[in-house]
Amino acid sequence: MICLRCGYCCDHLDVMIVDPRAIRADGTIDPQRTSAMVSKPSDTRCPHLEFRDGMAACTIHELACYQGSPCQLFVQFGPEDDICILGGYFRSIRTPDDPA
Ligand code: SF4
Ligand code: SF4
Repeated sequence: MICLRCGYCCDHLDVMIVDPRAIRADGTIDPQRTSAMVSKPSDTRCPHLEFRDGMAACTIHELACYQGSPCQLFVQFGPEDDICILGGYFRSIRTPDDPA
């Protein structure tokens, strides 16, 4: 799946993410924490999402703590060489009160 970096999935999906407070300086999860994952409800901006030159970027995407997380595994769908259609879907169901 080719990501178009719209960021819609990171705003609109209900997904478990790595708790920002659980990430150590080396990018791994603090083993002392009893719960390293937190719920990111739908229609809520993920604390790990940033926009750089208008392109969505996950600030923990390359870190060890992100690998194998429910969030990472959730987005691995569709053919590898096809563009993502999720962002278009979220735009199509957007209401006038939802400028995102
Ligand atoms: S909705 Fe698709 S294209 Fe947009 S950021 Fe998510 S994975 Fe990438
Ligand atoms: S952890 Fe990264 S990929 Fe997952 S919702 Fe947050 S910004 Fe998006």
